[in-house]
Amino acid sequence: MKWVTILLISLIIIIVIYTILNLDKKDAISVPPFFIYIRKDLRDNEDVIKHEECHWQQYERMGFLKFWSAYFKEQFGGYEDNELENECYNNQLNK
Ligand SMILES: [Zn+2]
Repeated sequence: MKWVTILLISLIIIIVIYTILNLDKKDAISVPPFFIYIRKDLRDNEDVIKHEECHWQQYERMGFLKFWSAYFKEQFGGYEDNELENECYNNQLNK
């Protein structure tokens, strides 16, 4: 395995642990190819479902390395120019 893959998997594991510890504070999170978590009271919410499905499609389009490197790059680059998030928020509005 490449060191980048190992680094990304370690970061994903950290996200998973963090998510499990803060489940009540998070609305939803996609961790492809592992799982999509949506808070219980939001599981019928079309917007939330669409948004998370959109992240899953990004993953399928970009592949593991590209998606997760973009994800972490954007996480540290600030929320405003987060292209992955913007695409999925637009997706929600254009339903
Ligand atoms: Zn999102």
